[in-house]
Amino acid sequence: LTTGFETAWNKLRGVDVLTKENMVEPMRDIRRALLEADVSLPVVRRFVQSVTDRAIGTDVIRGVKPDQQLVKIVRDELVQLMGGEVSDLVFAKSGPTVILLAGLQGVGKTTVCAKLAFYLKKLGKSCMLVAGDVYRPAAIDQLKILGEQVGVPVYSEGTDVKPSQIARNGVEEAKKKKIDVIVVDTAGRLQIDKAMMDELKEVKKAVNPTEVLLVVDAMTGQEAAALVTTFNIEIGITGAILTKLDGDSRGGAALSVKEVSGKPIKLVGRGEKMDDLELFYPDRMAGRILGMGDVLSLVEKAEEVMKQEDAEEMQKKIMSANFDFNDFLKQTRTVAKMGSMSKILGMIPGMSKVSPAQIREAEKNLEFMESMINAMYPEEREKPELLAQSRERRRRVAKESQKTEQQVSQLVAQLFEMRARMKKLMGVMQGGSIPALSD
Ligand code: GDP
Ligand code: MG
Repeated sequence: LTTGFETAWNKLRGVDVLTKENMVEPMRDIRRALLEADVSLPVVRRFVQSVTDRAIGTDVIRGVKPDQQLVKIVRDELVQLMGGEVSDLVFAKSGPTVILLAGLQGVGKTTVCAKLAFYLKKLGKSCMLVAGDVYRPAAIDQLKILGEQVGVPVYSEGTDVKPSQIARNGVEEAKKKKIDVIVVDTAGRLQIDKAMMDELKEVKKAVNPTEVLLVVDAMTGQEAAALVTTFNIEIGITGAILTKLDGDSRGGAALSVKEVSGKPIKLVGRGEKMDDLELFYPDRMAGRILGMGDVLSLVEKAEEVMKQEDAEEMQKKIMSANFDFNDFLKQTRTVAKMGSMSKILGMIPGMSKVSPAQIREAEKNLEFMESMINAMYPEEREKPELLAQSRERRRRVAKESQKTEQQVSQLVAQLFEMRARMKKLMGVMQGGSIPALSD
């Protein structure tokens, strides 16, 4: 997708003003890029039309080149297409909030139940899950296991009870226990069929949910538009949850949901871990689609993890430029905690082209460094100078970590380089001189 857009911008290099004529080719590239990303054709048509209208109509902004102008227009229109703003979950004004989940089989409904419970607990709300998928005993067990994992009760009955009945009983039970939010899991089918829709309608009638969220796999291709349309017409949805965004999704589903249903994507799931559910930010998604990376998400995640760590102390250390191997270890572990390297790299602009082999390499590198640091004496970790000054010490570390002496030397050099860079950085932050751009 990214390359398609890049081709479009490149064709406008050196152009003075956007005209109907010079827009033809770039818009064709954008159209192709969107179709290749599995955005449905009607959505693409409308999108291309509104971008063209806006681009040709805009005044030339001084200092902004036409290609940059088009990037901005495309980005703005993408954000609008996805609803513009973040859409929070809606909670009932009085009594418990019921959230009904719907969607095809395997899209991640049951996983989302538990992730939602985890998410809601962080918001300070109590939660109960209701096992409304009665077709496979395994489905009930799966929900029970996940519920236990996130520490919320799961209401279930036998496989011979109607889902609408279970849902109704579950909500009653939750009311008695004064639970804030009830999430009802339902059964999916491989394809849309009447029995599934009828069942969902019945469940909906039985529990009168505040939110009916359609769970959509981000990998869904062209058919996403039809899928969302059908669910919305048949049962009436209030929003969607996009799952498996950690995969190699081309973004098509994300772009179609709002346009075809008028309902926003509210949350996204980006992994199999329980804390992988996040609010959906149309501007970030637009950035990701355009290949500008998901920088804000990355920054937020880093802040969250760092908060749990002793961020303040780390900062003090960095400021004093006494960054040692203990801090080095802490940092690499923070990175590890933030999720796998590949996920992090995917969020950094320009890094999406990093190959899996390169990522594995980087991950191995971290392990590599950790094993050398682990072989250091505490005083060596605190005072890297000791290693810099003593070949004997470096030899010992190399031997113990089964690395070469040269590799240990490199690591030590790297640490001093980091110190130097941080010193420079601190100079800038404290209003000092700006370092030369040579590094
Ligand atoms: P359901 O049939 O809709 O209830 O789907 P499940 O919740 O059972 O999930 C189906 C599979 O998708 C499971 O193996 C999940 O672990 C996996 N899964 C769910 N959400 C995500 C996600 O956001 N990312 C990834 N990579 N896998 C997911
Ligand atoms: Mg399920």
